[in-house]
Amino acid sequence: MAAAGAAVRLVPCAAGHYLINYTWGEEMKILVQKYGGTSVSTLEKRELVAQRISDAMDEGFRVVVVVSAMGRKGDPYATDTLKSLPLEVYPDTSLRELDLVMSCGETISAVVMAATLCRRGTKSSAFTGAQAGFLTDGHYSEAEVIDCQPSKLKEALQRGDVPVVAGFQGVDADGEVNTLGRGGSDTTAVILGAALEAEKVEIFTDVSGIMTADPGILKEARIIQHITYGEVCQLAYEGAKVIHPRAVEVAMRNNVDVVVKNLEEPERGTLITGEASMKEGNYSTRGRRAVTGIAHSMELVQFLIEFDSPDKNRELEIFERIGEAGVNIDLISVFPLLKAFTVKEEYSGKVADILDRLGTPYKMEKGCAKVSVVGVSMHSIPGVMARVVKALNEQGIEIKQTGDSNITISLLIRQDDLREAVKTLHENFYLGKDS
Ligand code: ADP
Ligand code: ASP
Ligand code: MG
Repeated sequence: MAAAGAAVRLVPCAAGHYLINYTWGEEMKILVQKYGGTSVSTLEKRELVAQRISDAMDEGFRVVVVVSAMGRKGDPYATDTLKSLPLEVYPDTSLRELDLVMSCGETISAVVMAATLCRRGTKSSAFTGAQAGFLTDGHYSEAEVIDCQPSKLKEALQRGDVPVVAGFQGVDADGEVNTLGRGGSDTTAVILGAALEAEKVEIFTDVSGIMTADPGILKEARIIQHITYGEVCQLAYEGAKVIHPRAVEVAMRNNVDVVVKNLEEPERGTLITGEASMKEGNYSTRGRRAVTGIAHSMELVQFLIEFDSPDKNRELEIFERIGEAGVNIDLISVFPLLKAFTVKEEYSGKVADILDRLGTPYKMEKGCAKVSVVGVSMHSIPGVMARVVKALNEQGIEIKQTGDSNITISLLIRQDDLREAVKTLHENFYLGKDS
């Protein structure tokens, strides 16, 4: 809607009607809506997406849409399917080529979604990441966006079009196509929210918001109505793939309000904001939950290395070799005579090779998982670790290693114990009940 004093022009269009043309500025109330792979997977769902877009327009918003590739693994234009096409022919296909083929999924989706809108009489045009002004840093498969100049989107909005942007992609200074890491369409949406000074960003997905645990493994999981950027970021980093952690970081840095909701149930959802706008006591942490949510990650391998006597050089050499091999270490505990760390299963062969070559004896435990409890008030509430340990002990779940930050406690356990661990922690921290 145009605010008082906004410049508004009437422009004749082909059908003999007049379009209202707003000049760019604060008078446009922008909403960025991102629709994930399952939300655009079928004709019926895309019709529902179009309905959500027109609902928002009826509320006076100019809508910018971001889409993911249509469907999931096995569907013809889904990211995993597209990626498998060259890999089946040539397993050593470069990251460059994979980025090129994967980016097509979002582009196809954007064009199909724009066509769906046009058929309903809503003027719309599709944009690749490059056309939408996304400049990336050249890192194939995990690129960061270094600039976003969405001038073409602004022009489209001024024409009265709904721009539909292909998520998950950009181009570097050499014109090379880069993708933003799996789940990266969320990041596209939040960056656009910041660049276009949108009122908020809505992330539509296949669950009704950010939940107290992954509903895929715990049916008692409940929607969290309001959560801080820091907590979501931590949940996402610890494995809750409902939103990309980088998207949350961008939202936090630019103070963009983000809402996560379900296409089929848009009246519910989770609002993600800064801590200051949480409605419960801004000055006191008393009465606040110690734990807001639980995340997990699977397929981890623990390495245990025992030294006979402290040896700083050997210790450094081990970690340097692992770093040079491009392996990310997750949990790590270093004592003079014991080093314990975990890596993703896909890296375990590399680490074992390195230790063998260094002649370092080690124990390797496959089939591990990590469960993490996250809560912004945790650091000021005593006894959280004791509650965690007690809950797991009571179920006979062995804790193999721990790690923590000021808002997270992570525990390495056997993957076979994961469901039980999530369930018992969920119960012990009363996450199934409204506060
Ligand atoms: P999209 O394709 O819409 O981006 P994703 O598959 O990336 O959807 O993210 C949604 C999925 O995230 C859900 O289906 C759910 O299984 C998973 N998930 C993991 N942890 C959580 C959580 N804490 N809350 C909600 N969903 C979660
Ligand atoms: N289509 C990409 C993926 O599957 C990006 C996304 O969905 O956000 O990872
Ligand atoms: Mg996603």
